[in-house]
Amino acid sequence: MVMASLQSINPATGEVVGEVEITPVARIPELVARARNAQPAWGDLGPRGRADVLAQVADRIIDRSKSLGRLLTMEMGKPVREAVGEIRSCGGDHLRAELDDMVDALAPEVVDDARTRSVVYRDPLGVCAAITPWNFPFAMPHWMVMPALMAGNAVILKPSEETPLIGQAYADLLNEVLPPGVLQVVHGADDQGKALVAADVDLIAFTGSREAGKHILAAASRRLARVVLELGGKDPLIVLRDADVGRAAKFAAQNSFRNAGQVCVSTERIYVDCAVADAFLDKLIAETRRLTVGNGLDEDTQIGPMINARQRDHVVSQVRDAIERGATVAFGGGGDPDGNFLQPTILVGVTHDMAIAVDETFGPVACVTVVDDEDEAVALANDSRFGLGAVVFGEPDHAARVARRLDAGMIGINRGCGGARGTPWVGAKESGYGYHSSRDGHRQFAQTRVVSTSK
Ligand code: NAD
Repeated sequence: MVMASLQSINPATGEVVGEVEITPVARIPELVARARNAQPAWGDLGPRGRADVLAQVADRIIDRSKSLGRLLTMEMGKPVREAVGEIRSCGGDHLRAELDDMVDALAPEVVDDARTRSVVYRDPLGVCAAITPWNFPFAMPHWMVMPALMAGNAVILKPSEETPLIGQAYADLLNEVLPPGVLQVVHGADDQGKALVAADVDLIAFTGSREAGKHILAAASRRLARVVLELGGKDPLIVLRDADVGRAAKFAAQNSFRNAGQVCVSTERIYVDCAVADAFLDKLIAETRRLTVGNGLDEDTQIGPMINARQRDHVVSQVRDAIERGATVAFGGGGDPDGNFLQPTILVGVTHDMAIAVDETFGPVACVTVVDDEDEAVALANDSRFGLGAVVFGEPDHAARVARRLDAGMIGINRGCGGARGTPWVGAKESGYGYHSSRDGHRQFAQTRVVSTSK
């Protein structure tokens, strides 16, 4: 059989970084059968035994983080410093601590009442599919594959078609220590993703767009296959009148433009109280002016390219639409018509009749709306079908009260929305369906069984 190949293109240069063979859709059931054969022996190792196997990659990930980081930057564009950081966050002591947390989460629990003694077990489900996006192309597979393996499942990973090489590199690393067949890779685009969802898998762990997530949920429902969906966002930042405006502006520039805005918890909407709006905007412009756009392999680059021309055009068309509907450009607005680079852009006067205020942008655009008071800010922040993260800047007690009014899964006060180790990564509304990380998150990759006896 002649295999078709998938080229990985460097978004900064247009050069081919490498290629992989596309997995023929007809082969996917065979891979699932192989996974099913490999799973029982892996499951029999128990959580501690599996953790001991997987811990062997902890130092290898750190040791190879420089070369893997370069590959990651060449495939998707982010600054190499951030790429290396992404890889290191998946290895070393981080990984050892995560594995210990997963062992704890999966341990049997004894629950007694007056008449009954029950033991709650967390057993393997069987075969798990992990379908992942390109924006954190090492960390996203890691976040899905690791808890699935730790729960005793065999896993089939389908990395994004934009970043097949780093996805393959992740699987290769794990396969240095895993028994054959426990972790396999399917390469391709949505056809391969759909075929994997339709195959005989017990759980589909997906991180990606809301549209693909809805499709997967519908397709999985035919077999009542389990799903864990981590989807898109449209995160608001509220700047209250008692905020430290300098800190808020620094955060806004960082969180709107990091990874060229291609982050699920990017700040995409900013609601700033009219009392501090001018000062905030001046500082936001000053912070943004300092940012350098370029090839992620250049040491001084802070913002790399968009992943591809389609994503660049999507961002440009949202900005144009907003300008036509009355928004004004306070900074940037330009781009490179032949390449994938976009200048960080600040729009002011954004209203909710503009696509850019409603649909995910996933690009380097900060949309500023001036509000009369916090009630208006909260109403606008909650006026979204997404609900992944949110951030409030203000006097801490005041900001904490406002935070409790926000309909998002993760809310940061005077900082980003990510929680302490052990807390879930979770979306509200159409940003998530199930969640991961944390004790309860890890348990979603397992089948709960209760065995009871009379006392
Ligand atoms: P995408 O949905 O286009 O693709 C994600 C993966 O799903 C890819 O591997 C793709 O091939 C596959 N796929 C696409 N359609 C499919 C279908 N119908 N059935 C099965 N598989 C399918 O997303 P993307 O462009 O790769 O990533 C960007 C999106 O991911 C953004 O919406 C972003 O917010 C989201 N994201 C969310 C989180 C989170 O934690 N919530 C984290 C990272 C990215």
